[in-house]
Amino acid sequence: MDFSEAKKLSKKEVLEYCQTNFKNKEDELNAFITATYNNIDLSDSKGGILSEIPIAIKDNIAVEGIPLTCASKILDKYRSLFSATSVEKLEESGAIIVGKTNMDEFAMGSSGEYSAFGASKNPIDVSLTPGGSSSGSAVAVASGMALGALGSDTGGSVRQPASFCGLVGIRPTYGTVSRYGLVAFSSSLDQIGTLANTVDDAITLLNVIQGFDEKDSTSVHQKEVEKIPIEKTTFGIPKQIEELKISPEIVERMFDSKRVLEKRGAKFIEIDLPHLKYSIPTYQLIAPSECSANLSRFDGIRYGLQISDENLKNQYEKTRAEGFGEEVKRRILVGTYALSEGFYDDYYIQACKMRAKISGDLFNALDSCDAILTPTTPTTAFPLGSVQDPLDMYACDLLTIIQALAGVPAISVPAGKDRDGKPIGMQITGPAFSETNIAEYAKIIELELN
Ligand code: GLN
Repeated sequence: MDFSEAKKLSKKEVLEYCQTNFKNKEDELNAFITATYNNIDLSDSKGGILSEIPIAIKDNIAVEGIPLTCASKILDKYRSLFSATSVEKLEESGAIIVGKTNMDEFAMGSSGEYSAFGASKNPIDVSLTPGGSSSGSAVAVASGMALGALGSDTGGSVRQPASFCGLVGIRPTYGTVSRYGLVAFSSSLDQIGTLANTVDDAITLLNVIQGFDEKDSTSVHQKEVEKIPIEKTTFGIPKQIEELKISPEIVERMFDSKRVLEKRGAKFIEIDLPHLKYSIPTYQLIAPSECSANLSRFDGIRYGLQISDENLKNQYEKTRAEGFGEEVKRRILVGTYALSEGFYDDYYIQACKMRAKISGDLFNALDSCDAILTPTTPTTAFPLGSVQDPLDMYACDLLTIIQALAGVPAISVPAGKDRDGKPIGMQITGPAFSETNIAEYAKIIELELN
């Protein structure tokens, strides 16, 4: 059900539709960490553009009075004292918040399997991962438990699960959606994004949550950009695409997407992203470095889990050893190492320099074209449990990191299915503030290839 279908029904009917799906499917799919369907009072819900729309919120985004876990044991029994700005904006528009969704712990992962609450499952085939880290948000929407969801995207965590579940996912321009109330993983990369069944719905949600917020020091005002109609648009395809390890079926579908855009009058050129191959190692130094600083606040004193000891240092150690999962510990260790004296120049500073080069490539490319077409992911959804090596898990982010490093927006849109019936996602990347334009282009793929 999309928003326009929901608008034809009463609030009660839409909520019942979602709640019935929740009752029938949640035991198997594990989309939610905290579901709040039973606490909803429709009589006092406001009117507004989202007034019939049940929305699920990733559990690293604060909703007042409700547990906030980040899918980690370390936040056991912690309840948020306030709501994120994005959640307040949803509520002001009348949206019905139906709960907090499962995720990889602290948003570190690509499959949902690093959750302390067990993995979510892909509604298309429960033996498959729904992607991650916004796994539960994608599952909730794909199974009709909610009509839209918020996720967070640090290196692909909105776009990749959207792609694996046959949904639309948008990562907005850095700074256009407030991070106030989003638990920080890697502050220079983290952005809240939207997931929905259609491009229109995902953009509607994004328009509601964006806007300058003085509570976020990196917040910016959205700029009006010139509307570029499809027949005047030039797309770039990176010449590196064919050298990368991407499933041939997905590359084929990218060329199908190119054809449908060309039919509408778009032009295509080849672009060069020479440093694309360094994006994963660069990200895997910057994100862990920032996370090692951000996650130091979880000390067994201020939030959630506390394993007491007479000695304060032992208390910190025991709480963090027990509270954090393996992947989170791995990233904290890598980040602490990369920032330590003697290694800082060789690792962190090198990564920052490479970030500038990768961003520079992207800005240069976007000077010669209006948008970039690539697949969202190198593979379609893989079986749960099939990726054991962390480096293989990191490889999922091959095509979704550069936008985060450069702070530019990107949208993932379904572009049909592979031979096994698994959804394929296409990604359109644009310059800062071009969300409306790239969404218009995505709509053509949505219409023609599904
Ligand atoms: N998969 C990436 C990671 O593991 C991206 C996560 C994200 O965007 N939150 O860090």
